[in-house]
Amino acid sequence: MVKIPPSHPRYESLLLREKIVDGVRKGIVVLEGLIAHGRGECFDYILGEKTWPPAMEAIRAAVASMLLAKHPVISVNGNTAVLVPEHIVRLAEATGAKIEVNLFYRTREREEKIAQLLKEYGAKEVLGVGDDASATIPELHSERRRVSPRGILVADVVLVPLEDGDRTEALRRMGKTVIAIDLNPFSRTAQMANITIVDNVVRAMPLMVKEALKLKKEPPQVLREIIERYDNRKVLGEMIKIIMDRLKELSQKGVFLEIK
Ligand code: ATP
Repeated sequence: MVKIPPSHPRYESLLLREKIVDGVRKGIVVLEGLIAHGRGECFDYILGEKTWPPAMEAIRAAVASMLLAKHPVISVNGNTAVLVPEHIVRLAEATGAKIEVNLFYRTREREEKIAQLLKEYGAKEVLGVGDDASATIPELHSERRRVSPRGILVADVVLVPLEDGDRTEALRRMGKTVIAIDLNPFSRTAQMANITIVDNVVRAMPLMVKEALKLKKEPPQVLREIIERYDNRKVLGEMIKIIMDRLKELSQKGVFLEIK
C-alpha cells in the first residue's frame, strides 16, 4: 500500500481509495468496483463528506426495520467487504441478521475470499458461497440472481449497500423491504429502495451499529412507530435539496479554497 501522510488534506478519502485498490490486488474487488467507488466519491465531495440529518433519519428507520424483521439479511459485495468488514459483522450481531455474499461478477474464488475476510473479523457464518447460492431471484440476468435459500431468498428485509438498480427492483418485486446505502440519490437503486441512506458506507455502517445497540432496548411498538413515520420520498427530496443548496452556496463564492 502507498503510504499517505495523515497531514494530507484529502487523507481520509485517499485512505479509502487505497483500501479499494488493495482489494483489487487481493482479488476481492473487481475493476468495475473502482468505477463505482469513483462515482460515490464525487457525490461525497459535494455532500462535504458528512452524514446529513435526513441520512440519519433513514439510518434509524433502517435499523428499526432490521430489528423488527423475521429474516434480516446483509448482502455483501467486494467494495463493502473491504471498506467495512468489522461493521458488517457487528451490525449482523446487533440485529440478528445473516450475512450473504452476493456478487455481480461471481467467481468461487472471490466468494471465498470475501467470506474468509468477514470470518477474520468474527463472522460465524457467511451465506452465498459456492453451492449455498443455489436459489435464484426471478427476472434477473446477472450472477446476482443466485442467492442462498437460507438467506436472501427467504429474507423479509435486505440491506444492500452499494447495489445496482435492477437487483433492487427485483427484490422489491419479491415483496422484500430493501434498504440501500448509496451516495447517489439519483441512482436507480436509491430511487427503488424502501429506505435509502444517502451517505458513505464507511460512515453509515458504524452509525447503524450504534443505533442498533440503542434501539434494541426499545419495545417493538417504538420501532414500529419509527417505520410508520418514515417517508423515503421526503428523505430523498431533502438530500437532493442539500446538494442543491451546497452547490448554490459554493457557486456564489466562486473560489472557496485559499492557499495557506
Ligand atoms: P443504478 O443501477 O442503481 O443506477 P449504478 O449504475 O450507478 O446504479 P453501480 O455503479 O453498480 O451502479 O453502483 C455504484 C453506486 O454505489 C453508485 O451510485 C455510487 O454512488 C455508490 N457508491 C460507491 N461507493 C460508495 C460508498 N463508499 N458509499 C456509498 N455509496 C457508494
